[in-house]
Amino acid sequence: MSIANLINVPREFAQSPDAHAWTFSNSADHDEIIQAIQAQYGIRLNTYIVDPFPTSDLTGWFFRHQNLHDDMNGVLGLTGSDFTDLDVSDQTEVNYWALQHYQEHLAARIALGI
Ligand SMILES: [Zn+2]
Repeated sequence: MSIANLINVPREFAQSPDAHAWTFSNSADHDEIIQAIQAQYGIRLNTYIVDPFPTSDLTGWFFRHQNLHDDMNGVLGLTGSDFTDLDVSDQTEVNYWALQHYQEHLAARIALGI
């Protein structure tokens, strides 16, 4: 699967159809990365449900998602960002967050050769 959808910045994060497509792609990409890590490193990482966005406890979603990033970066030796702090009502902040997030997925895929 392509991670191109992750570069499409969601509008009205956590509510819009754009955001649903984004969370689906994000979740699918994390699954693919976890499978590649298991195949290449023999390490079975935890999975966390990050699709769809919850209707409540958005904070919990951010921390579950951060666990996915911290776990993959730990195995791959990559430096990661903090994706837990985001004001979803600030589109400029969302744009920056989404770009950083895309770059981190891309770095993991490059490290894994997938
Ligand atoms: Zn992610």
